Amino acid sequence: MNLVLLGAPGAGKGTQAANLVSEFSFAHISTGDILRAAVKNETPLGLEAKKYMDAGDLVPDSVVIGLVSERLADDDTKGGFILDGFPRTITQAVALSEELDKLGIALDAAVALVVNPDVVVARLSSRRCCKVCGYIGSAADETCPKCGGEMFQRDDDKEDVIRNRLAKYEESTAPLVEYYRGADLLKEIQGDKDPKEVYADIKAALGL
Ligand code: AMP
Repeated sequence: MNLVLLGAPGAGKGTQAANLVSEFSFAHISTGDILRAAVKNETPLGLEAKKYMDAGDLVPDSVVIGLVSERLADDDTKGGFILDGFPRTITQAVALSEELDKLGIALDAAVALVVNPDVVVARLSSRRCCKVCGYIGSAADETCPKCGGEMFQRDDDKEDVIRNRLAKYEESTAPLVEYYRGADLLKEIQGDKDPKEVYADIKAALGL
């Protein structure tokens, strides 16, 4: 199954993508993860992307479209993939559709996680991630409950940056919901609930 996961920052895209990947072995394509790895490794792309990411702004379309096109050509996407955090603009969505046409692949659905902005700010400001395995937890996790690794707070999970990321989402990414509704691919899921219930709702909506 080939999926796009949409939703505001903090809506639970990363958590739900991880659930789908562990149960169905889909390839997980997270542009945020790819960009963070580039920043960490101080590649030219990472150095360019860092200034946008630190401010909570979107990295230019041309940069992320190139990254995703390369990643979609990898063999592990043949068994299905989840795009998490991409597309984030209509330009990216159109480029994705063209790239998939070239590869002879179709999207099966765009899952949109719908959450209240106040819930997102509370969730993200308490989010902590594992430095070792990438587990997404909360400030209550002193060490990673999965592997015992050190937990850290992402630089862009500070409140002023979160507010800017939400504003960018409303401006650039929210219109994608209508784009995918128009393409008859949209599945809207209430994301404010317990993550296990959200996951069950996603599976039911996808017939999995
Ligand atoms: P995320 O982990 O998906 O919240 O992404 C973290 C940051 O990476 C975002 O705030 C953007 O600065 C950048 N980013 C990730 N995906 C994209 C994308 N599709 N388009 C533009 N910027 C992106």
